[in-house]
Amino acid sequence: MKKHNFSAGPCVLPKEVIQKASEALLDFDNGLSLIEISHRSKPFVDVMEKARRLALQLLDLEGKGYQALFLQGGASTQFVMVALNLLETEAAYLNTGTWSSNAIKEAKLYGKVHEVASSADKSFSYVPKNYTIPANCDYFHCTSNNTIFGTQLTTFPKTDIPMVCDMSSDIFSRTLDFSQFALIYAGAQKNMGPAGTTLVVVREDILNKVTRSIPSILNYNVQIAKNSMFNTPPVFAVYTSMLTMEWLQNLGGISVIEAENNKKAQLIYSEIDLNPLFTGFAAKEDRSKMNATFNLTETKLKETFETMLQKEGISGLNGHRSVGGYRASMYNALTLDSVGVLVDVMSELERKA
Ligand SMILES: *Cc1c(COP(=O)(O)O)cnc(C)c1O
Repeated sequence: MKKHNFSAGPCVLPKEVIQKASEALLDFDNGLSLIEISHRSKPFVDVMEKARRLALQLLDLEGKGYQALFLQGGASTQFVMVALNLLETEAAYLNTGTWSSNAIKEAKLYGKVHEVASSADKSFSYVPKNYTIPANCDYFHCTSNNTIFGTQLTTFPKTDIPMVCDMSSDIFSRTLDFSQFALIYAGAQKNMGPAGTTLVVVREDILNKVTRSIPSILNYNVQIAKNSMFNTPPVFAVYTSMLTMEWLQNLGGISVIEAENNKKAQLIYSEIDLNPLFTGFAAKEDRSKMNATFNLTETKLKETFETMLQKEGISGLNGHRSVGGYRASMYNALTLDSVGVLVDVMSELERKA
């Protein structure tokens, strides 16, 4: 039976990517598996170089002073690495959810954190606006898409200090002027590949400004000098991410997938707004195009709704354990057809109730 995978992460990947990745597990290089050859062999070094190049090409940052890295430890390790490498005295953070809060917690280990604004007062259901970023801070950090609460930044502040952005759950999903960011990071498992690698795109001129000693493996300069191969890289995660970026480039790049993502978001949110049995969680103007969070207005329909979802092969729709309700994650590889199946179930519920 066809599955419609709305999981928030790890999550759906393009079928052809999974097909190619599984072929490489069996035979990548003359009968040898991708996961049993040296990461220093030419075939794999080519994969790493291609992955780094594709990331810069898709973001239109090639030749603009940026380096792309594929590191380990997830986005959570970037909470630490960003602060270790960039925070000398004080940094500015926008708090829009659990992941921002976690980033702030780690940064506080290395310096002062100035929280410019927070939406904690309303359970992170909106994105704060009209805050000021102190010019004396070393950098400003924000989270472009709040995976758990289903809000997304549509505009980014203008600031003269380096802007750092956690794009784990909306990287490659929409066109932006990516050169406004000095550093972008994204765990692969939301919109790029399997868990195990994290994309970091950093403009080199922001490095070498702190006085502390940085452990080699957590030092961006070392990782750049070693071409993301300071130690053994997660070869399968990097290869699969490379295939997904290649898939996206062949489709026509971010602008093509963005049009599709807009259609998907439009479809689900119009159902949430028109169907009296459902109510959205996030403030309308801040709704995420990647993760739509919503609730049933009548809890007695929970069982009926969930049985219907199961019957249609819809999986991964449960909200995050901290929010409850439902969350439809609609990453790049989720088709408009899958959103259509979900919306049909929602309207069928209304007819039945
Ligand atoms: C999932 C997620 C993280 C955490 O990623 P890990 O790779 O598990 O550390 C961080 N930030 C955002 C926005 C996320 O969606």
